[in-house]
Amino acid sequence: MKLTEFLNQKKLALSFEVFPPKTDTAFESVKHATEEIAKLRPSFMSVTYGAGGGTSQYTLDIARNIKEQYGVPTLAHLTCVSSTKETVHARIADIKAAGIQNVMALRGDIPAGLENADRSHWDYKHAIELIRELKDSGANFCIGGACYPEVHPESVNQSEDILHLKEKVDAGCDFLTTQMFFDNNLLYNFLYKIREAGITVPIIPGVMPITNGNQVERAIKLSGSFMPQRFKSLVDKFGTSPAAMKQAGIAYATDQIIDLFANGITNVHVYSMNKPDVAAAIGRNLSDILGQEW
Ligand code: FAD
Repeated sequence: MKLTEFLNQKKLALSFEVFPPKTDTAFESVKHATEEIAKLRPSFMSVTYGAGGGTSQYTLDIARNIKEQYGVPTLAHLTCVSSTKETVHARIADIKAAGIQNVMALRGDIPAGLENADRSHWDYKHAIELIRELKDSGANFCIGGACYPEVHPESVNQSEDILHLKEKVDAGCDFLTTQMFFDNNLLYNFLYKIREAGITVPIIPGVMPITNGNQVERAIKLSGSFMPQRFKSLVDKFGTSPAAMKQAGIAYATDQIIDLFANGITNVHVYSMNKPDVAAAIGRNLSDILGQEW
């Protein structure tokens, strides 16, 4: 199923993100975790692509398994910046052969140490080039792109970031998923600005439940997200107690999602990090709102 078919129904729903294993030995445990999440019947599941593409086969294996065994629509991520055209074209053919209809087209982070390198000879510089190739692949994919309510760290300012986002959407994005954020007002301001800029495709907000004090620093570093005082206090108070932090993180994410639904968002994407218990706990907190048993 193409995700746009579901998104256009405007039904309140949760989708979940999982990531592939980094090694062969971790494959079975990751597969099991993703199956437990699939059993929760989310609207769809996205499977990330390892930076540099080293674990690309696992992305496809996990995505295909969820789709075929559990009937959950899947979104396979694909990055391009550290790959050659040949590799990317082979991955696109693999996705098509696996019968996966939804692709999240990403540039990927610039490999460490190459931030200031001359990129003129690189096969890919931005996600838009991958989006154009997916569009021309003849596979009729439903294509997603990434967007950043708090501005991509490489952008000089938000106007420039939104200008490039509009180009990306015009090149063929059918929907956009946001980077995580912990203050919904940042998302609402962003939505206002992108709608004003003429971006009309569905936006799927991404919410990350922080359930472990150690996760905070890494998550903030990767995303550059602003931490509201309410969130900081919660981490200060409960960050060293795993069970309490998990409960507080799930409650915070649940609160964020309820507010998003109350303000017109229909599908929220939860960065569930291969944790079925966290995904299920959020679902249970929202069972009457979603009209679904968890
Ligand atoms: P782009 O759209 O290319 O944007 C990157 C920067 O370049 C922005 O500052 C943008 O404004 C600017 N820009 C865009 N187009 C142009 C242009 N034509 N000219 C000049 N500047 C331009 N990483 C992974 O490795 N694997 C994953 O599975 C993965 N999943 C993700 C899912 C989501 C929802 C998000 C938000 C991010 C994900 N990432 C993933 C991280 C992502 O790869 C990085 O954030 C990366 O730095 C940017 O990717 P992009 O597709 O947004 O790039």
